[in-house]
Amino acid sequence: MLRYKGIGATKRIAIGRVFRVPGTGVLHREDAADEILFSAEKEIEKLTNALEKSRQQIRDILQKIRNANPNDKSIDIIATQLDYFDDPSFNDDAVVLITSQRLGAAEAVRRQTRELCDTFNSFEDDPYMRERAADITDAGERIFNNISGFCADIPRTLPPDTVVVAHDLVPSQTAQLDLDHVLGFVTEAGGLTSHTAIMAHSMNIAAVVGCQDLLDKACDGDSIIVDAGKGLVVLRPDEVNLRTYEKLQAKDKVVWKSYDQVKYRRILRSGGGEILVAANIGSSREAELAKEQGANGVGLFRTEFLFLSRNEMPGEDEQYEAYRAVAKVFGDAPVTIRTLDIGGDKELPYLKIPREENPFLGMRAIRLCLHYPDIFKTQLRAILRAAVHGNLQIMFPLICRMEELKEARTLLQECMAALEEDGIPYKKDIAVGMMIETPATAILAREFAKEVDFFSIGTNDLTQYTLVVDRGNPLLSGLYDTMNPAVLRLIKFTIEAAHEVNITCCVCGEFAADPQALPLLVEYGLDEFSVGIDTIAETKAGLLGLVGLSAE
Ligand code: PEP
Ligand code: MG
Repeated sequence: MLRYKGIGATKRIAIGRVFRVPGTGVLHREDAADEILFSAEKEIEKLTNALEKSRQQIRDILQKIRNANPNDKSIDIIATQLDYFDDPSFNDDAVVLITSQRLGAAEAVRRQTRELCDTFNSFEDDPYMRERAADITDAGERIFNNISGFCADIPRTLPPDTVVVAHDLVPSQTAQLDLDHVLGFVTEAGGLTSHTAIMAHSMNIAAVVGCQDLLDKACDGDSIIVDAGKGLVVLRPDEVNLRTYEKLQAKDKVVWKSYDQVKYRRILRSGGGEILVAANIGSSREAELAKEQGANGVGLFRTEFLFLSRNEMPGEDEQYEAYRAVAKVFGDAPVTIRTLDIGGDKELPYLKIPREENPFLGMRAIRLCLHYPDIFKTQLRAILRAAVHGNLQIMFPLICRMEELKEARTLLQECMAALEEDGIPYKKDIAVGMMIETPATAILAREFAKEVDFFSIGTNDLTQYTLVVDRGNPLLSGLYDTMNPAVLRLIKFTIEAAHEVNITCCVCGEFAADPQALPLLVEYGLDEFSVGIDTIAETKAGLLGLVGLSAE
């Protein structure tokens, strides 16, 4: 029996049999051309043919997926491979390597792919960029295999109760798998935004990623337990573990079945009014997952993730596309776009802020946006334009002083005036809200409530600033307690202040998904819980277990 610890990408439990998808590893193989027989023309011809063959293979895979499900989310991801095949880095540069360095076509592709991957992997703190390296590897390996006649295709039919074990799974591989029989995924590479994680979310099955060195030890047909909630994998479990997990799995199935029954339902208070359970998301891709999990909207779109995963600021049009995509997914349901919350522990490599002794007390969130009005206005314009396509609302983070709110609103007005003048469509009556994340703001909630359309309490920051406990310091985790009466009193006061002037109040910090917090927040009269995608159904089920709430 072997135990492995990785990162749980979902919360499910699976017990099944291993199916290995071995990495071909071709990109690690040196394959210089034979000097005597070397012909640059021949190598270029091999490359051209392999590219065409690769394009055709991807088109075939896409066709298969479209036939099975035209809305399959992997279609767009796989289709980007066609762009790689036309990318100069994959052909023009490879041709240069063949002619100038007398490399074989396969070796030239190998080097090009590795170089591109290294560039993407160099963004160490950026999981999104590292996942893109996996897409490039997939495309590069396909071309390489087509040059060298190596076939890395995966058998389509899998036995029942399969747990797929791979170094990393890319969409073109999962597209070939018979997913009906897959109970779980375990990968050595990948993070929470990897294709495997996203796929497991939408299939609602167990997945553990970042589980190192498993592939070498696992054999096809081995029995395996995946406890995704704990990020734990047990290979060839003994009888005791097997029996224990069989019981846990049976429980897990009952619990999730009960979630499935409530996740698309609305939650109503017996005295009137609906409680929304919305999602916290970080990308437009996550919006679809959230919708599938039954979210009644988006309570917090952390837009900084659009800014973090790159070398330069996203432009207005690019942001517009991202916000529009989320708006479209949710139609009439409210989608709250939080303006850039950079600073604190989130840095932009391309925006140099002078070093700060206390970044969480420094140039952060709205302060930074007001300091760089051009960045802020670009984002505001993009949101205003995208809001035409759905029910978007704007939310300012970390407002501490009334002046900040006023200044932010003035800049918003300026953006509206400029769009008006240019004849560009935008939403004139967009709702504008603010986060309550500091004691100062909560104490002035009555005054702030008169100036905005809604509140959203960021309990993560509110707790750290009230109790003076760094939210990310594991040594202080025992002191970080949102249940502390000081924090609870601020939350209650904020909700009451909102209701005094008939505006709504949401909680979008982690506290909203804490089962112990639910009865308290319902009693305080909270209108909206905005939680991580994984906990939407669980939160709805938890709320429906409370007296005075019912489902419709
Ligand atoms: C919060 O502070 O509770 C919050 C939701 O914002 P973030 O976690 O992004 O700081
Ligand atoms: Mg916050």
